[in-house]
Amino acid sequence: MNETIDINSKLLWERARNIYLSTLQSEEDKSQVERYLSMITAVTRSGSKFVILTSNSYAADFLKMQYAGKLKSCLDLAGGEPDLEIEFKFDESSKPAIVMPEVPKYGLPQSERMSTFSSTMPLNEDYTFEEFVRGPSNSWALAAAQGVVANPGKSGYNPLFIHGGTGLGKTHLMQAIGNELRRRNPHLAICYLTAETFLNEYVNALKNGQAESFRNRYRTIDLLMVDDVQFLQKGKQFQEEFFNTFNALQQAHKQIVMTSDVAPKNLPLIEERLISRFEGGMVQEIESPNYETRLAILKKKSEGMNPSIPDNALEYIADTIKSHVRAMEGALRKVSIFRTMDPTTRLTNEILSRLLNDFIEKEKSFKKLTIEEIQRTVAKKYSIEVDQILSVERTQSLVTPRQLAMYIARKFTTKGLPEIADQFKKKHSTVIHGVKSIEKRLDVEEELKMNLEEILSELGCKFSDKI
Ligand code: ADP
Ligand code: MG
Repeated sequence: MNETIDINSKLLWERARNIYLSTLQSEEDKSQVERYLSMITAVTRSGSKFVILTSNSYAADFLKMQYAGKLKSCLDLAGGEPDLEIEFKFDESSKPAIVMPEVPKYGLPQSERMSTFSSTMPLNEDYTFEEFVRGPSNSWALAAAQGVVANPGKSGYNPLFIHGGTGLGKTHLMQAIGNELRRRNPHLAICYLTAETFLNEYVNALKNGQAESFRNRYRTIDLLMVDDVQFLQKGKQFQEEFFNTFNALQQAHKQIVMTSDVAPKNLPLIEERLISRFEGGMVQEIESPNYETRLAILKKKSEGMNPSIPDNALEYIADTIKSHVRAMEGALRKVSIFRTMDPTTRLTNEILSRLLNDFIEKEKSFKKLTIEEIQRTVAKKYSIEVDQILSVERTQSLVTPRQLAMYIARKFTTKGLPEIADQFKKKHSTVIHGVKSIEKRLDVEEELKMNLEEILSELGCKFSDKI
């Protein structure tokens, strides 16, 4: 690489990035965007071009497609010249090596970047065991995670498979294992990534004729953490590769940790032999926290907030927001901002209910929607019968409404997968597949998106209510 890193680009980039992140409303969006932006290894200027270098060519294409427009507006807002053009490029100098980056490594001198293992994603330093609140809903999963830390690679705990609904602390717990093992031994080769990234890395390695080095790289890892394995896709070749990597690591007594929103046996699109491997160690579920745990989590998260948040406000949040921890955190942040702006007003229930109205409405809409109602509304929109949604007939004119109804049930209610599957008279894996298929299509099919919006409005909710 002959361009040099100039400090102004780095500052400009940091400001643009912060501006972008501050425009995102939900924590989920934020952490997703942060994850994608962490694929950026460096930024630099080349004439009127602002060059963004990424850890692989897939990332360059992806970021360009998804984020080019938004990043350009943020660069403008951050003080970049209006005619600045953005270019995304694979940073060929960021050779893989088995070392965890402490932070996303953009803007570092090349010598430092050489040690970045391109496949790994950064660990969140706040996701530690100390910050994780124990309660009846997660105590088994927590004990298993601590077991892994005490004896990484030991057979009863290898692999550790944690499953449970969104926002219940799976990623936190998994990364706590990584953070703690790294604290104990900074030389451990630790790799954390989502199943989606894992797959993309593989596809990319194949494309560039680097399958062999991909293979070798993963087989020298001490701790492999794969998040959200429900997103592993069908693809014989990749599953074969994953299977072999899995076996090699296990035989060498290296630790593997995985998370998913469903138990291994309900994973869609995954081969039987992989599933039985996943089940071969320890499988633990995290459930929704009860009131006491919710309150304890809020107390923990509000420690050190200045001005402090009074107990009655924490109790109010714990009492009204039950669906997931991430929403509770959002509500807490809102109260904290209010306190900062107005530290003297007493936070009565009336003020809190007004302040947290959005969150409370969202909770209500979760509770309100029944699966039957969703099926009825979707059937009406597509002029079919509810029975046809429940049938096994696979013509496209039925598959779309069926999958759309599954998608709404999954994303706009807090109903668990078993209940949804039951009410659709389908297997769990069919529901997951359906939801995923709609998610993909929504990105590209305007008409489907419009239909969804109409159905949602009929049901009294909006797209932004999605969990
Ligand atoms: P998941 O991966 O299950 O979707 P996350 O691990 O991302 O959920 O958790 C969402 C948020 O909730 C994180 O900020 C996490 O710190 C917090 N959280 C969840 N459970 C707990 C807990 N038991 N103690 C402390 N924080 C928690
Ligand atoms: Mg997660």
